[in-house]
Amino acid sequence: MVKKYSLPDLPYKYDALEQHISKDIMTLHHDKHHLAYVNGANTALEKLENARKDNFKGVNVRSVTRDLSFHVSGHVLHSIFWPNMKANGGGKPGGKLADMINTDFGSFDAFKSQFSEIAKAVEGIGWAILAYDPLSDQLMTFNIEKHNMQVGQGVVPLLVLDVWEHAYYLQYKNDKGSYITAWWNVVNWDDVDTRLGRTSPL
Ligand code: MN
Repeated sequence: MVKKYSLPDLPYKYDALEQHISKDIMTLHHDKHHLAYVNGANTALEKLENARKDNFKGVNVRSVTRDLSFHVSGHVLHSIFWPNMKANGGGKPGGKLADMINTDFGSFDAFKSQFSEIAKAVEGIGWAILAYDPLSDQLMTFNIEKHNMQVGQGVVPLLVLDVWEHAYYLQYKNDKGSYITAWWNVVNWDDVDTRLGRTSPL
């Protein structure tokens, strides 16, 4: 039997991030889009389970495992995205996270600029993320295509920004830059800080 993923609740109400991210966006994004990744991951695992029983006859394993990677990654990133935000967030991080950002990027402002540029540079659908790389003991940013391409293996995501159109279009239309600027006002730096030192993304 495959182990199933399940959709986590939002850690706040759907309208908690108004005016920066509307209730309509949060509702659709969590209840429909995130749920679709949870279901997609479970479906891919079930397809593989059934395929094993039938000796992989007529099953496109490349396609199914591509689906598994896409949906698991989508589920993980969204599960980090929600607690990465809170009402009346923003400002700057403190503690060890602030020290590491200063060491690895030069300053908080330099990090913020780099992260914003990466988010703006996502082509079509993807994410900007800040991650910790245990191998080199440093913070890195990545520009993820879809949910799973162009990210370093083995890094632990700390702060993730969804720049798929479903994350902002209802409120910001095609003005991705304004969405990114507004999003900094809801970042929950305490949550980002607690992720430092983890060896698992969740
Ligand atoms: Mn999304």
